[in-house]
Amino acid sequence: EALRVVARCRPMSRREEAAGYERVLELDVKLGQVSIRNPRAAPGELPKTFTFDAVYDASSKQADLYDETVRPLIDSVLQGFNGTVFAYGQTGTGKTYTMQGAWAEPEKRGIIPSAFEHIFTHISRSQNQQYLVRASYLEIYQEEIRDLLAKDQSKKLELKENPETGVYIKDLSSFVTKNVKEIEHVMNLGSQTRSVGSTNMNEHSSRSHAIFLITIECSETGPDGEEHIRVGKLNLVDLAGSERQNKMGAHGERPKEASKINLSLSALGNVISALVDGRSTHIPYRDSKLTRLLQDSLGGNAKTIMVATLGPASHSYDESLSTLRFANRAKNIKNKPRVNEDPKDTLLREFQEEIVRLKAQLEKRGMLGKKRRRSSRRKKAVDGEGTVDNEGEDENEDGLEKNMENYLKEQKERLEEEKAAIQDDHSLVSEEKQKLLQEKEKMIEDLRKEQEATELLAIKYKAMESKLLIGGRTIVDHTNEQQKMLELRRQEIAEQKRREREMQQEMLLRDEETMELRETYTSLQQEVEIKTKKLKKVRARQVGTGTGTGTTCSLSPVTLTPSSPTAPLSLRYLIIENFIPPEEKNKIMNRLYFDSDEDQWKFQPLVPTGG
Ligand code: ADP
Ligand code: MG
Repeated sequence: EALRVVARCRPMSRREEAAGYERVLELDVKLGQVSIRNPRAAPGELPKTFTFDAVYDASSKQADLYDETVRPLIDSVLQGFNGTVFAYGQTGTGKTYTMQGAWAEPEKRGIIPSAFEHIFTHISRSQNQQYLVRASYLEIYQEEIRDLLAKDQSKKLELKENPETGVYIKDLSSFVTKNVKEIEHVMNLGSQTRSVGSTNMNEHSSRSHAIFLITIECSETGPDGEEHIRVGKLNLVDLAGSERQNKMGAHGERPKEASKINLSLSALGNVISALVDGRSTHIPYRDSKLTRLLQDSLGGNAKTIMVATLGPASHSYDESLSTLRFANRAKNIKNKPRVNEDPKDTLLREFQEEIVRLKAQLEKRGMLGKKRRRSSRRKKAVDGEGTVDNEGEDENEDGLEKNMENYLKEQKERLEEEKAAIQDDHSLVSEEKQKLLQEKEKMIEDLRKEQEATELLAIKYKAMESKLLIGGRTIVDHTNEQQKMLELRRQEIAEQKRREREMQQEMLLRDEETMELRETYTSLQQEVEIKTKKLKKVRARQVGTGTGTGTTCSLSPVTLTPSSPTAPLSLRYLIIENFIPPEEKNKIMNRLYFDSDEDQWKFQPLVPTGG
C-alpha cells in the first residue's frame, strides 16, 4: 500500500497581500494537482505540475481534509493498524494549523482534536469490545527526545529496541484517557510544556518535531471464542520547518548545534530517497531519532499520510518547489500495513488481570456477607415455598458492595450490642468487665480498619474498571440521530469526492498512455519508413529504375501502390477514389498481404474461378 500524499496550500497572508506578492501556485482540487510557476521564468516556460492523492486549496476546510483523507486512517488504527500523519513544509505554511488548528473553534480544529472526537465516538458506539486509550506527547529538538508530559523536564529520553515490538522510547510517560476531555487535557499539558522554556516559540517549533502518540488497545471475543487484543498506534507528527537552515543558525548558536537542528529532517529525506530508489539495500533509519522512531511508518507496517503544506506566494517559490518534489518522491513509498493482533505486554491485558485480582479480593471480603445472605435465604426457601432463590448468583458489583456494607454494619451493631450487654451485666467484676469491653473495642476497631481497606480496594477496582471503555456502558455516545445522519452524509460525500478524483486521475493517466501509444505509432511509422526505403532499394535493383529520394512515406503508399512508393499520398488517394470502382478496389485490397519472410507487401495470385 502506497503512502498517501496530499498537498495543502494556505491562503495568502495579510502581509503577503500587502507586499503585493503574486500567486505562483494553482490547485486543481478535482484532479488533485498542484501547478507551480517560476516567478523568474522565461516567457513561455510552462509551470510544473504535481499530482497527489488529494490537494486542498486556500478555501478548504479542516473537516474536508479530515473526512476525506484522515478519517479512513483513524478507522484503521481503531482496527489495530499502526498509522502516521506527517505535516511537512516550510515554516509558516500551516503544519501546526493542519495538525492542531485553533482547537477552541470547532471549525478550525485540526487533525489531532478531530481524531480525539472520532476515536471516542467510535468507542462509544462499539459493541462487545473493550478499549483502552492512552496518550503520550514528545518532542525531538536537536536530536534530543523530550517527554512533554513528564514532571522532570531535564531528563533526556533514550530510544530502545525490542525484537518483538520494535523501537520504543524508554520511560516515556503515557496517560490513560477515558474521554475527549481527558485527552485534550493531556494535549494542552504537553503544549504548555513545549512553549515553556523556549524563549521564542515560533523559532522553537520551527526547529523541533512534535509527536502526539495515541495507543488504542481493543479486546474482543473472536469467532474462535477466545479473547483477542488488537493494538493500533497513531503518530501525529508536526515536523520541523523544511526550509534550509542557515549554517550558523539564526541566532548564532555554535555550528555544531546548528548542524543538529535538521539532522532528523535530512535523515527523513535520505530514508525516503533510499526507499524509493529500489536499488538501495540499506535504508538509513538509524541516522536520526525521528527516522528510527518512525521506521514503521516509512516502508514498514503502518498506514501513512503525508500532508505537504505550501505557501501560495512568489517569495516561497523555491521552498514550495522543494516541498512538492519531496512529497512527490514520498508518493512512491510502499508500506505493508497489517493488524497488530495479540502482541505481548498489552496494557489492556494487564488491566484486565489486575481487575480480576481486585475483584477476587473484594469478593473474598464481600463473599462472607453473600454467603450469609444466601444461606439465610436458602433456609427461608426450604422453610417456605421450597424453591431455591438464585438471585444472589448474578449479583452485580454494586450489590456485592452493598452486601458487604450490610455485613459490616450488622457486625458492628452486634459488637456494640454485646458491648452494651457487658456494660449492663452487673454480675461481672469491674476488672473483668473492663477487659471484655476492651476486647470488644478492639474488635470494633479491627472491623473499621477492614472496612477502610475494603473501601480502598473498591475505589481502586472501580477506577481501574472505568478506564476500560465499553461502548454504551462506560462511555456513552451523546450524538442524536439527526447529527448521526449528518455525519454519515458528510462521510459519504467525502468518500464520493475521493472516488471521483481517483477516476479523474485514472482518466488522466489513460490519456497519457494514449499519448505514449501515439508516440509508439510514430516510431512504427519510422519503422515503416525504414522498411519502405529498403523496399525501394529492392525494387530499384529489380526494376532498375533507381528513382526516388526519401520523402514523406507512410504505411499507405507501400500498401496501395508498391511500385511507386514516392508518389504523394494524396494524389494516389485521389486516383483511387475517382478512377477505380469500389468493387475493384476491394478485390485488390483483399488480395493484399504482408510477407514477413521477404519483409514486403504482396498480392495473392489471382485464382481463376469456375466459369
Ligand atoms: P507552521 O506550523 O507550518 O509553521 P502555522 O500552522 O503556524 O505554520 O501557520 C502559519 C499561519 O498561517 C498561522 O497564523 C495560521 O493560522 C495560518 N494558516 C495556516 N494554514 C491555514 C489555512 N489552511 N487556513 C487559514 N489559515 C491558515
Ligand atoms: Mg508550527
